[in-house]
Amino acid sequence: MPEKKKSNSKNKSGIKPGSCPLYKKCGGCQLQNLTYEQQLRYKQVKCIRLLGKFCRVGEIIGMENPYHYRNKVQAAFALDRHSNIISGVYQSSSHKIVPVTTCMTEDEKADEIIGTVRRLLKNFKLRPYNEDTGKGFLRHVLVKRGFRSGQVMVVLVTGTRDFPKKKDFIATLLKIRPEITTIVQNVNNQKTSMVLGDRSEVLFGDGCITENLGDFVFRISPKAFYQINPVQTEVLYNTALEFAGLTGKEKVIDAYCGTGTIGIFASPKAARVVGVELNPDAVKDARVNAKLNSAENTEFYNADAGEFLADAASSNEKYDVVIMDPPRSGSTVKFLKSVVKLAPKTVVYVSCNPETLARDLMFLVRNGYKVKKIQPVDMFPHTNHVECVAQIIRKNEKR
Ligand code: SAH
Repeated sequence: MPEKKKSNSKNKSGIKPGSCPLYKKCGGCQLQNLTYEQQLRYKQVKCIRLLGKFCRVGEIIGMENPYHYRNKVQAAFALDRHSNIISGVYQSSSHKIVPVTTCMTEDEKADEIIGTVRRLLKNFKLRPYNEDTGKGFLRHVLVKRGFRSGQVMVVLVTGTRDFPKKKDFIATLLKIRPEITTIVQNVNNQKTSMVLGDRSEVLFGDGCITENLGDFVFRISPKAFYQINPVQTEVLYNTALEFAGLTGKEKVIDAYCGTGTIGIFASPKAARVVGVELNPDAVKDARVNAKLNSAENTEFYNADAGEFLADAASSNEKYDVVIMDPPRSGSTVKFLKSVVKLAPKTVVYVSCNPETLARDLMFLVRNGYKVKKIQPVDMFPHTNHVECVAQIIRKNEKR
């Protein structure tokens, strides 16, 4: 595990705080006016304010180099007023595109590839898709890069199925960017704020990449959720695993499991891991990931986590540890009531929103549990998002 960040964090890449020219327009990095050290302090204070009533809050684990950490970058394409092709992000709460060529949080390779696609569009006389007229071709480019595996996926999201000069375009892109390991065309002709449509065609490679995390390897497909900061994901998962206190005998639930990463990470130290996830594509990936890692003691189910736990509780199943990683809205009363009924000795709550974490911890504390540890991890430097891991144990457990 990387060393904990102490207060003398250095700005290694030499970027001055607030120096991004897009700071106000883009809105992605809300804390950019602060030095990284100040950002960490801000997040620490926020966690103490919201969670300090439960137990002592550990010192936030920051990044050694808090720049270019995003392994997934997406850019929307359009024409500007002078009919030049631009790509970038939507201005906050609008449909206007702010052109981006480099970004301090995004992977630099990904930004370079997006720049190449922009130039190739012009050379091939292809146009960005216009949602209002239904004319044009390219809507978005999505790049995912395995930081440790080195694999690179490029998804060209097009408004039409027709891809003029496809072969030539792909061959030229690969010639300029030989690091690309797979290219997918995804067709999205709907009026929607969703980036990806339903139909995909693999144009080069096998349509997905793999990434290494700890001793494990995970498959990442265009649509499935995967943590966007690979360095801090390892810190986060190691913390969750430490808090789970596994000895090899436990039956574990990995709730809101996504592609099964936390459960598979925990599987060598558990007797059995049962994962539950709402997104069917993610569950498919979780099963593939289990095979890839020979995690034979894992099972993954496609269900609402609250219903799944309620069923388990009413059929008197026994679990020793519940690991939960819900979305920003937090968990549900149905889920939490079922946790209390199942009565695991330990609950590990991985949270991306300290407000809903505080609400859910209060429910558990009022129903026979106590919060032993809270560890914030900075997964999203320069933004106001804070991730925390909490260890919660049943009150009559000796630990
Ligand atoms: N633990 C995973 C994913 C966390 S993101 C990881 O570390 O990668 C939260 C996940 O919760 C998403 O995959 C989302 O699809 C899933 N989810 C959201 N609501 C859900 C529900 N009601 N029941 C089960 N899963 C749900």
